[in-house]
Amino acid sequence: MKPSDFAGAPVSPVRAPLDPVCVRSGSAPLDPASVSVQGYSRETSQASDTPSSMPMLRGLAFNVQNYSVHDGPGIRVEFFMKGCPLRCEWCSNPEGISPYPEPGSYPDKCMGATECGRCLAACKQKALLFTPEGTLGAIDRDVCIRCLACTRACLTGALSAWGQYYGVGEALDIIRKDRVFFERTGGGVTVSGGEALMQPEFVRALFEQCKAEGINTCLETALYVRPEIVDDFFDCTDLFICDIKCMDDATHRARCGVSNQLILENLRRIAARAARLVVRTPVLKGFNASDAEISAIGRFIRDDLHGRVLQYQLLPYRQLGVEKYASLGQEYPMQDFVGYEREQWEPDIRHFIDLLQSMGINAVSGNNQKLELP
Ligand code: SF4
Ligand code: SF4
Repeated sequence: MKPSDFAGAPVSPVRAPLDPVCVRSGSAPLDPASVSVQGYSRETSQASDTPSSMPMLRGLAFNVQNYSVHDGPGIRVEFFMKGCPLRCEWCSNPEGISPYPEPGSYPDKCMGATECGRCLAACKQKALLFTPEGTLGAIDRDVCIRCLACTRACLTGALSAWGQYYGVGEALDIIRKDRVFFERTGGGVTVSGGEALMQPEFVRALFEQCKAEGINTCLETALYVRPEIVDDFFDCTDLFICDIKCMDDATHRARCGVSNQLILENLRRIAARAARLVVRTPVLKGFNASDAEISAIGRFIRDDLHGRVLQYQLLPYRQLGVEKYASLGQEYPMQDFVGYEREQWEPDIRHFIDLLQSMGINAVSGNNQKLELP
């Protein structure tokens, strides 16, 4: 249900801009100078045994996943940071777009206003919309100020917060607990998003400490950031994982909300520094699933990245995150792909891998093929 389903409620636009770094299809390209440090804040106290010389930073993450095996070698702890300057239509993490904490609603878990009603007392904005039957319907996002009081009041998870702040020391404590898995599998920590480089000070401080403790670091980034920010990560990052969504800039602007020129420039920069690099492409019919587009990406990897790409991963579109769109009161933007099954994408992916391998590129299907760092 959406706010517009309720009588008298204002209509919320789908995926409305919530933050100052938003850019949408057809709007002016985002100034990458504004793409940084939106989601972190300085900490008033530092947890754990983080050195006192370290800046007291907090990073905002919407998920922390242990035993992650898809984003970097071995078993990893993965932090998904909040905030992203891109607006890819197929995004499976809509809760990672806004750089602020925000409430999500799961009406099926609501006990009802009569039996409970704690959230109604907590919300001073009167932003919670209830059904005629007396259960939670939706959040009026035009009125909600994201104070999260309702999520703290709700005991069932019908209202829950997307986004939690972590100090560098707190993040390290989480990472260190899995050290035994890192040692056995060559794993470590991955910071992803959203866009990890929207919170560069936090991520860099975390990576520096991980490197000091011998923990492998992997940065998954869309690279739509100022080049100086990327430069700051060369000495503390063991592996960069970056997307090339398509080579045609107009298509990239139309489907991802921003130009691809800065992204490609940053990729060249990483390759020139001989950093370890994995490239990915989400493959989608009607977007980039054509010989012309995949070959163009292949030529860029071969000619502009000078053989630095350890692995090129083709990721078939999968219908993920539908319930998260609903929890944010947003429509799922990929309705045309509902029911798009393996037998439909697998032949295409196989064909593209053959094409890329004939160009001398180490192309693989998916992100679960073994990856060993040289
Ligand atoms: S986050 Fe705050 S303003 Fe928004 S619905 Fe919850 S209590 Fe109300
Ligand atoms: S606090 Fe949670 S369970 Fe209680 S009425 Fe509100 S949404 Fe429902």
